[in-house]
Amino acid sequence: MEIINTIREMKAVVSQARHLGKSIAFVPTMGFFHEGHLSLMREGRKRGDLLVVSLFVNPTQFGPSEDFKAYPRDFERDRKMAEEVGVDILFVPETMEMYPPNHQTIVRVEKVTQGLCGRSRPTHFQGVTTVVNMLFNIVMPHVAIFGEKDFQQLVAIKQMVRDLHMDVEVVGMPIVREADGLAMSSRNTYLQLDQRKAALSLSRSLKRAEALLQKGERKVESILKEVREVLLSEPLIKIDYIQICDANTLEDVQEIKKDVVIAIAAYVGQTRLIDNLIYRPC
Ligand code: AMP
Repeated sequence: MEIINTIREMKAVVSQARHLGKSIAFVPTMGFFHEGHLSLMREGRKRGDLLVVSLFVNPTQFGPSEDFKAYPRDFERDRKMAEEVGVDILFVPETMEMYPPNHQTIVRVEKVTQGLCGRSRPTHFQGVTTVVNMLFNIVMPHVAIFGEKDFQQLVAIKQMVRDLHMDVEVVGMPIVREADGLAMSSRNTYLQLDQRKAALSLSRSLKRAEALLQKGERKVESILKEVREVLLSEPLIKIDYIQICDANTLEDVQEIKKDVVIAIAAYVGQTRLIDNLIYRPC
């Protein structure tokens, strides 16, 4: 596995690969890898001749009071894990090269970034779409793989690719969970033992929703009521939102007729966790 730190070198390597007719698969990450990241890399390995993974803790997607400084980092561990799953290139750019002092361009996707996490993190998605746009320009992938864990992010990136006529196929991969149901996240390392236990109520509440849906419940209000009850049974949990939205537009729905996402964001102490369930009625 090659480690590349400069944009110039990264562009040269992918230009050469494209010239030779190779397909490029790309997985953007902020590092501190877990099985969720590795599942995307394995998919990328299958889809591309050249597999590029970026590791960049992107400052512009963190709000001023968020955890940019504290975000977990362990380059040696990440390097080994990426190498083991067969990554060809780990791209680790410098912040100063990505955002030189006179940087002034922002890519903002409008409607789909306004609700859900956009409400409490108003500049988050523009940070994400700006950096992903930059990374696409540098890595020039044929296919890019993202996790459904960050469902709103996936929808925003698909929208950006459509709106800006980008030649990239965007692939979404299912959420990878711990054995007890907790959605894997680099931020889970912040959780104390009692908080981690409380955090399980997110996946538990989604399981409850799934059971109701399988029994034929189609009224959003009834499902939300039960999801809320499961979450509120844990005193350490502070709900940010629970919503049921159209899985394509992220607009609220009243009744479940088409594909929906049941999305949750909640705080356990200072840690903000998200989880979701995609439901496709047959
Ligand atoms: P991050 O490093 O947290 O920015 O995540 C990098 C990519 O991994 C994003 O596309 C995430 O959606 C994806 N990802 C993070 N956690 C999971 C998970 N538990 N299952 C599947 N994909 C994930």
